[in-house]
Amino acid sequence: MGINSRTGKDLCVHFTAAAVNMATSSSHSAVRRVAIFGGTHGNELSGVLLVKHWLKHGEEIARRSMEVRPFITNPKAVEKCVRYIDTDLNRVFDNQSLSGDQKGKVPYEIEQARKINSLFGPKGSKNGYDVILDLHNTTAHMGATLILENSRDDFTIQMCKYIQTSMAPESCAVLLIEHPGVKYATTRSIAKHPIGIEVGPQPQGVVRADILRTMKNVVNYALDFMQYFNEGTEFPPCSLEVYRVLEKIDYPRNESGDLGAIIHPSLQDQDWKPLNPGDPMFITMDGEVTCYEGENTVYPTFVNEAAYYEKNQAFAKTEKVTLMAQALRL
Ligand SMILES: [Zn+2]
Repeated sequence: MGINSRTGKDLCVHFTAAAVNMATSSSHSAVRRVAIFGGTHGNELSGVLLVKHWLKHGEEIARRSMEVRPFITNPKAVEKCVRYIDTDLNRVFDNQSLSGDQKGKVPYEIEQARKINSLFGPKGSKNGYDVILDLHNTTAHMGATLILENSRDDFTIQMCKYIQTSMAPESCAVLLIEHPGVKYATTRSIAKHPIGIEVGPQPQGVVRADILRTMKNVVNYALDFMQYFNEGTEFPPCSLEVYRVLEKIDYPRNESGDLGAIIHPSLQDQDWKPLNPGDPMFITMDGEVTCYEGENTVYPTFVNEAAYYEKNQAFAKTEKVTLMAQALRL
């Protein structure tokens, strides 16, 4: 399937009608194995607490048609309540790191990635888990967010649509991280259908009951969708509005690399809201304002995310895109 048109400022992308007509439904095999990952970042506590709870109370996430396995992915980081020990576990699931040909002392997270890949993968093989739900928190004001890696995966698009509809009236944005120049190599990427669940705002090392409840609801709706699918429910063709990552924006920095300005108050907590040409983005200690000079309206997300200061990212620019998925049935 291809993307055939972009229209003006809405930046809507549609699949061709011809391609949709060629096959009106896609058939998938039943979902047999699902993993729920918590603690990929050890200081994002909603996922850590939920997965630890479900390890003792598996009946809460059990669905009769499939195996559902909760798993703490970075136990040492969880124990220390830090994001990671040596390197970010959520960026090392590339073939080179997983293949084991790295020389010298192997960073803890790479050892861990290999272990996870052998338990739930191998990545890219038919033996990998069908679905991995990877639980994260953000300090940004993003609400419930589903992270989609592939714009052509009808199964996951249909699952996102089901979760979004079930969550209403609470918002549930979908962030598409597919990008020609950026490969994330996420922990969940070893599954056939990976999905990140990112809920915020919640400070690192803190757990809030409202954020925890939202995350729990998202997981349960995802499991319900898979159970209904396994039972033979047909899901009609759907469209899904997603925010596609365009570019990461760093803070203004001085000669020594220190922050030269911080997020402007009018951008703070405005994740998913339009940022129009001329709108303020940053403000210096002296009150000098930097404005957005792009040509098109964009939709910032991960605004002022604590974990991204080290990644030189103040926020990510996204555009709104509409994805289409064919009808889905077993
Ligand atoms: Zn995270």
